[in-house]
Amino acid sequence: MSTAIMTDHDDDRPTPIHLLPVSDGARRPLSLWVENLSVSFDGFKALDDVTLLLEKGELRCLIGPNGAGKTTLMDCITGKTRPTSGAVYLESRLNELTRLSEVEIAGLGIGRKFQRPTVFQGHTVFENCELALKGPKGVFRTLFARLDAAQKKRIEEILELIGLADHAQRPAGLLAHGQKQWLEIGMLLAQDPQVLLIDEPVAGMTHAEAERTAELLKSLAGQRTIVVVEHDMEFVRSIARNVTVLHEGRVLAEGPMAQVQKDPRVIEVYLGE
Ligand code: ADP
Ligand code: MG
Repeated sequence: MSTAIMTDHDDDRPTPIHLLPVSDGARRPLSLWVENLSVSFDGFKALDDVTLLLEKGELRCLIGPNGAGKTTLMDCITGKTRPTSGAVYLESRLNELTRLSEVEIAGLGIGRKFQRPTVFQGHTVFENCELALKGPKGVFRTLFARLDAAQKKRIEEILELIGLADHAQRPAGLLAHGQKQWLEIGMLLAQDPQVLLIDEPVAGMTHAEAERTAELLKSLAGQRTIVVVEHDMEFVRSIARNVTVLHEGRVLAEGPMAQVQKDPRVIEVYLGE
């Protein structure tokens, strides 16, 4: 670690942005980063100069009161909303996302899970993953095209990972709420994204389901970069190493959960509720 820092001092060239220092002083490559992002809706600033750096493989929780801008931030990353100013980069300065369409951004490897599960109720668990794996071609055409052995194996691995291997042939509509959420995470994984954005995964889950979800997300981190928006603080504590608190469109606090939890400003606007 110290070697890397000394090298930078000895070198007049600016540190490449994807090797910027991160919170713990180490230098690891960045996966996704947002620079000075602002979004105005009719003059109202939903996001105000937000900068967010995510290391490769990081599991970051994004918290904050309603209206803080969490969903808007995800919308900007995925191309659903155009920011007024600022930039979003994936892996390198060469991939600036705010100029791209939602489909292009998804194609670069950013997957998003919305709060409400959107599985195909009438199709089996396996078929849902199959549809996700093959991409947007239409249900009928997709299910007719044969899976090759590697694709089949990949779906089986995903079902194992999300704990639904024994439910592969059940219609998704018959799954419990928690299982549908896991299936949707599985469907995201079928598209093999490098970055997963997940909105309120444990809303409506039982305690046991939330615990399994925590295990699942922790097992996925490391290989993928994951951003989770969640209000359930027990859940956030159970998964997060680093937490970013948004408030009124700005980053109010950021750091390890233990530290953020003690921050008086965070307690005042959010945790003290
Ligand atoms: P969060 O997800 O943290 O609850 P949002 O990102 O949904 O917050 O919203 C942030 C703020 O921006 C809120 O005040 C919301 O009313 C406003 N907002 C979000 N989307 C729009 C929009 N399309 N038009 C106008 N205002 C919006
Ligand atoms: Mg929201």
